[in-house]
Amino acid sequence: MRKPIIYDCDGVLLDIIGGLRKALWEIDGIKTNGPVPLSYDLKEWMGVDDQAFVIDRIQRFNSGEGEYFANLDPLPGAVDFVKAMRERGYEDSVLTAAGTEAKIKTGRASNLERVFGGFEKIQYVGLVESKKPYLEDMPSSWFIEDNIVNAHLGAATGHDTLLIEYEHNATKTDDEKFRRVTGWNEIRSIFDAEHAPAPAYIL
Ligand SMILES: [Mg+2]
Repeated sequence: MRKPIIYDCDGVLLDIIGGLRKALWEIDGIKTNGPVPLSYDLKEWMGVDDQAFVIDRIQRFNSGEGEYFANLDPLPGAVDFVKAMRERGYEDSVLTAAGTEAKIKTGRASNLERVFGGFEKIQYVGLVESKKPYLEDMPSSWFIEDNIVNAHLGAATGHDTLLIEYEHNATKTDDEKFRRVTGWNEIRSIFDAEHAPAPAYIL
């Protein structure tokens, strides 16, 4: 049986940065420094000094202010990949740390349903909660992430973990037991290799 696929959501399936950027401009009048943040610390990207503003801003965004959060676009290539793997018989689920409030769950579920169709399961983790217990509970799977801490957790809990590389996670950390990939094209080629016909041994 094929190993199931666990997808992270933000930065893997959905373009939260694009949505946040739009909300910052249209609601707060903030023009971000560049299209994507260069580090996990979003202060510089948002052009503010106050971490409390960043946290409040993300909470307002995730809670549905302006309805941006529930209407995120897929990242290029994500829809094709998810649908192609379903056709190959992979079970899939989403493990997302966007928060656990009802409004967040509803917005995320409808967004994912509209863009990707039904995932077998969506698990919601708190914004500052660890994904570790969830990963420990899941059968050995593929795990596709863009957060280094979570990629380490995925590998440590026995999942075949792929980290999609961005500027903000490009610096290699110690003892990485996950694989870095540039995006969906490379992930696709990894999965295609899994399905390559067996070598034609001499009979
Ligand atoms: Mg993410």
